[in-house]
Amino acid sequence: MAAGRDILIVDDNEVVTGVLVDLFRREGYDSAGVATGEECLEELGRTPWKLVMLDVRLPGISGIDVLRAIGDDHPRTDVIIMTSHVSLETAVQAIRLGAQDYLFKPFDDLEMVVATVNRALERRRLMEQREQLIRILADLAIENTRILAELRSANSDLEEKVAQRTAEITKANLQQKAIIVELKGAKEAAEAANRAKSQFLANMSHEIRTPMNGVLGMAELLLHTELDQKQRGYVEMLHQSGESLLGIINDILNISRIEAGKLEIEKIPFDLHEIVRGAVDLYREVGRRKGVALELEIGPDLPRRALGDPNRLRQVLINIVNNALKFTEHGSVTVSACLVEKSGNGHYVGFEVRDTGIGIPAESVGGIFELFTQVDGSATRRYGGTGLGLAIAKQLVELMGGEIGVESEPGRGSTFTFIVYVNAAPDAESDVEDDPIELDNECEETLAAQCHARVLLAEDNPVNCEVAHAMMTALGCQVDVAQNGAQAVSALARKSYDLVFMDCQMPELDGYEATRAIRERERDSGRHTPIIALTAHAMAGSRETCLSAGMDDFLSKPFKLGQLQELIQRWTAA
Ligand code: ADP
Repeated sequence: MAAGRDILIVDDNEVVTGVLVDLFRREGYDSAGVATGEECLEELGRTPWKLVMLDVRLPGISGIDVLRAIGDDHPRTDVIIMTSHVSLETAVQAIRLGAQDYLFKPFDDLEMVVATVNRALERRRLMEQREQLIRILADLAIENTRILAELRSANSDLEEKVAQRTAEITKANLQQKAIIVELKGAKEAAEAANRAKSQFLANMSHEIRTPMNGVLGMAELLLHTELDQKQRGYVEMLHQSGESLLGIINDILNISRIEAGKLEIEKIPFDLHEIVRGAVDLYREVGRRKGVALELEIGPDLPRRALGDPNRLRQVLINIVNNALKFTEHGSVTVSACLVEKSGNGHYVGFEVRDTGIGIPAESVGGIFELFTQVDGSATRRYGGTGLGLAIAKQLVELMGGEIGVESEPGRGSTFTFIVYVNAAPDAESDVEDDPIELDNECEETLAAQCHARVLLAEDNPVNCEVAHAMMTALGCQVDVAQNGAQAVSALARKSYDLVFMDCQMPELDGYEATRAIRERERDSGRHTPIIALTAHAMAGSRETCLSAGMDDFLSKPFKLGQLQELIQRWTAA
């Protein structure tokens, strides 16, 4: 709202001015009076006035000229002309020049004067309000435009951000896809590497076992010849070293089989007592030499016959008994076996191997069943070993449905315990306490049992051929040799044999193909010559491959005289 004073009266008649000023003041207006046009313009130059009541007839500058000057210099000041009835023409001219209204003098009706002034001021107020409204509207329009512009820019910002985000997501998706492809590649590479590792292990196993067969077989044969004491000592040492080396190779193979999930537990009938006794008997000599008593306690309730994996159970027992003796210098090692509980169609059987050896420090007990873990890892270790045995034992025990643990006190000894589940053998009720069955590791006894079988030996490796030939001859067999599969097939066509030992890998025609050819030919005659695979392949699946080629049994190299004898007797028994 325009500031300033309300009503300026311009009249040379002081009475009129005084009356009007009083009148307007009484009405609440801020009012003053001047006598001339010059004074009026001066006053307007000093102070803004809302309304000037201007007499037309003034001394000096005329009211009309003052009106013109106000129109030019003070357009916001309204003017009401005061004129006499006689000069209506002047009033019309004044209206044309911008005066708001006119009043005729003398004023007969002061109320009408006040009403005119009120009207003029009200109109002015309304005008000002309108102007303010317009300004507000204009401001609002500007604000609206600004907000609209902001919205547009925010919108385009948003669109830009959405586009940017979409691009980022697309990029991330592409990266993810690339990573998946990479991971798939890495997985395939890892699988290929694993397959290569398995293949490598199979090949290594074959390559190492082949000469090991020569070493062990020849040493064993040598032990059956006339030797002086010194020579016998050397050969025994040679044989034992070979056995140790073979043990390590077998451990490594076992681990790789377990890791590949290829180690399966058999379910065949066996004599639990015999397995426990056999494992202990193997170490009697070691104990005797060390001066450590080796004791065996078989619980009266331990079932004798069971269905399970005797070889794996023996392996675990041997490992623990071997450790117990290895880490005990004085005192004793006691092996006990008993029935823990009957469950379902079988039994949980428990084993304990207690020694009075060096013991295991508490901080090492937790990791002792981990791969490659040894309590004494120093370079100057006193005891040998690979740190694989207990890790394998743990895996095997778990595969046999049980668990293994140890309690130990350094300096006082250790007690290893494990439980395995075995199924009851179908004829378990007929359990009788037979005499302990001796393991046939006594060479003299083995050789005493003569076989007299006609054997065809197909083997291309001269050393292995020599070993097997010598062992078979020592067992009383008549042996013909074929140097490859083709020779074996034609030898069988010429002559009949009780048994064929067939090496699997041979030049020209390998053992599998030779067996297939032999079986093919036998189809007409109705004859079936037992064929036993001789192979240095010890990886899982080798046995199945041999059987599916038409062979009857499997003997993995290196083998012992006792194993060979057992096989010959089994397959030639009428
Ligand atoms: P290793 O071939 O080294 O004997 P194992 O896995 O059979 O491998 O044993 C791991 C380690 O556990 C051994 O090196 C030895 O430190 C400790 N250990 C095993 N059995 C005994 C025991 N009866 N007494 C003391 N320490 C033992």
